[in-house]
Amino acid sequence: MEMNEAIQGRIRQSIKAAMKSEFYGKRFQGIDPEDIRSRDDFEKLPFTEKEDLRGAYPLGLRAVDEEKVVRIHSSSGTTGAPVIIPYTQKDVDDWAIMFRRCYETAGVTKKDRVHITPGYGLWTAGIGFQLGAELLGAMAIPMGPGNTDKQIKMMEDLGSTVLCATSSYALLLAEEIEKRGIRDKIRLKKSLIGSERWGEKMRNRIASELGVELYDIYGLTEVYGPGIGISCRRQCGMHLWNDYFYYEIINPKTGEQAAPGEIGELAITTLEKEGAPLIRYRTHDLTRELPGQCECGLPYPRIDTLIGRSDDMVKVRGAMIYPSRVDELLSAISGVSSEYQIQIDHLNGRDILNLLFETEAVESAARKTLEKTVEAAFKEKIGVTPNAIAVGMMELPRSEKKSTRIFDNRY
Ligand code: ZN
Repeated sequence: MEMNEAIQGRIRQSIKAAMKSEFYGKRFQGIDPEDIRSRDDFEKLPFTEKEDLRGAYPLGLRAVDEEKVVRIHSSSGTTGAPVIIPYTQKDVDDWAIMFRRCYETAGVTKKDRVHITPGYGLWTAGIGFQLGAELLGAMAIPMGPGNTDKQIKMMEDLGSTVLCATSSYALLLAEEIEKRGIRDKIRLKKSLIGSERWGEKMRNRIASELGVELYDIYGLTEVYGPGIGISCRRQCGMHLWNDYFYYEIINPKTGEQAAPGEIGELAITTLEKEGAPLIRYRTHDLTRELPGQCECGLPYPRIDTLIGRSDDMVKVRGAMIYPSRVDELLSAISGVSSEYQIQIDHLNGRDILNLLFETEAVESAARKTLEKTVEAAFKEKIGVTPNAIAVGMMELPRSEKKSTRIFDNRY
């Protein structure tokens, strides 16, 4: 993203605000924000990692007086301490404004009924979707996750028109609606899918089975939550609301700026956040900057649909495996569904790569042929031969949260 003088001024303010927290007070000791006078100066500042935020548990990120904090959220940590983010009323309001903009970009109006399946509570997802819907004036239906029977009944009875979900839960609901043969009773028109990298095949299945337009919504708990960006009707990447934050695309290995159009990791510096401002926060989401203005006319810049996570990449026998590249190669093979799982093990001194994929093929000869095709394509595109295993449709687990497709059991 471009950095003009106005943005530099706002960054200096944000650094000053951040330094009131215990964490940045220490981290930026000896740095005078007034000395940040150019892009180069800014890029000399250290990055902030999720691990750093964990180290600030519980309230080391709080950059305002106690009485200004109205809420906390926490990001789901699979290991170690969670990250706690304090919000002021302004933070909550700004988040709602950004989220309303997401709904508007997706063409959602006051007349829509917004069915919200992401989780509520410490997690930011559910409440973010709700705040934005209410600010817009639509009718929020705060379902939260789980209980598919009830989800479908409410969807029918209330005539939900917009579904908010993770891609894997949207797929699960789509499959269930298809199975029950009740699609004509469902009035969904649009679906906002939480930011996660998901393949073209999965997208097409959700869109066609639910009969909806799909929008990718971007965000992360550390920076408000979901709703800091969304794809538009042109479906070419995601617009980011860069009036609230400054972003960089960096080389995940070196930390240097990625060349224009080059894939790198998104790093975010907040410009308006009070409760817990973040400076050069590494999201580990891989994407790239898209050039020029979007045909939809929105003035906000765009990044590409997420390509994966820099920490999702695994190395097997010297080959780098990104989930997005696996999606891509599987989607080119007819007869193979969007659902797959990779299991990596270490046996007798050797890495073993098992790739399970779903298929409608039932006969063992047909499955064998598909397995051979998948193995050859994998070898060609990724450089290593997996042991491909065909399984039936719906045999791999679906999840209500973000789906994990690569399981590295070596360590
Ligand atoms: Zn656009």
